[in-house]
Amino acid sequence: ALTAGIVGLPNVGKSTLFNAITQAGAESANYPFCTIDPNVGIVEVPDYRLQKLTELVQPKKTVPTAFEFTDIAGIVKGASKGEGLGNKFLSHIREVDAICQVVRCFADENITHVSGKVDPISDIETINLELILADMESVEKRIGRAEKLAKQKDKDSAAEFEVLAMLRDAFETEKPARSVEFTEEQLKVVKHLHLLTIKPVLYVANVSEDDVADPSGNEYVQKVREYAAKENAEVIVVCAKIEEEIAELEGEEKQMFLEELGIEESGLDQLIRAAYSLLGLATYFTAGVQEVRAWTFRKGMKAPQCAGVIHSDFERGFIRAETVSFDDLVAAGNYNAAKEAGKVRLEGKEYEVKDGDVMHFRFNV
Ligand code: GDP
Repeated sequence: ALTAGIVGLPNVGKSTLFNAITQAGAESANYPFCTIDPNVGIVEVPDYRLQKLTELVQPKKTVPTAFEFTDIAGIVKGASKGEGLGNKFLSHIREVDAICQVVRCFADENITHVSGKVDPISDIETINLELILADMESVEKRIGRAEKLAKQKDKDSAAEFEVLAMLRDAFETEKPARSVEFTEEQLKVVKHLHLLTIKPVLYVANVSEDDVADPSGNEYVQKVREYAAKENAEVIVVCAKIEEEIAELEGEEKQMFLEELGIEESGLDQLIRAAYSLLGLATYFTAGVQEVRAWTFRKGMKAPQCAGVIHSDFERGFIRAETVSFDDLVAAGNYNAAKEAGKVRLEGKEYEVKDGDVMHFRFNV
């Protein structure tokens, strides 16, 4: 399963945030395929469409979909001693599919900052530079040989050398690999390099309790937003401390507490949705009277593969998928009405499933 790693300098609030994540944690009985690991937090993906479908269908049971955050800080604790981020840290980042970088945007004199003052941009650059240096090392290890073979007219090596040189240029100016524009062919070469800075990133601005309702006055957040905008990255504002409290609540209680705080959606819920999408994940639904359920697929997956998310038999015996978009279904009011309105399509093996599709698979056993 794809996972988003939580990283950041010491004392920025990673553990507090991860604690909120495990606190909010999904009921693992519903997700037997998920990892049991103290450094992994399973979260349910908040999705208003699931509530809406539940109202329409009135099933016995509603099951959200889930995914995993990995706490890189927790893995690192004790594993790497001494200065710097350490090789362990880097190897753990290598294993995640997207990076959520927590940055400290709260001033608190009682909590030491590693570099002496709160400076989110310098924090971001410290981590990003470390990752760039690690990637530079990977590139340098290969570029000499690739260049030599390229000169001997080896086609694959020529392609590799071209990509490595582009990366080297980027790293020399402290730019991450994800900022380089590659063709699809080049991207295949890049994939083999297992780079750290090719992974998509979002920034989690951790603000104080006072700023959570209206972070616009927080100049640290402004700076993070400006920085992130330059690399087309998203910024999620949270107050990790309050998220810990919110995570203990559910349903109406949670709603009331959020209203008291003056926020519409908890920072953690926003983070979950943003990380999900950063991982390239999307959701389709099944909606029967027994169960209304959200399922995760990777954007670009076709109908049989999506059926396989439920069970491998569904993929093997796939015939067709009755498909209606969430919007069409809601507009029609119920499944039969949608059918009568001609909104239920019969999709075959080549159909690329879309976010929000409501699907009923037909398959041979
Ligand atoms: P980590 O080293 O990045 O895992 O940081 P921790 O989660 O351990 O947090 C470091 C310190 O900052 C702890 O004393 C937390 O209570 C405090 N802290 C974390 N988040 C917040 C926050 O949103 N507001 C305030 N005031 N303190 C926080």
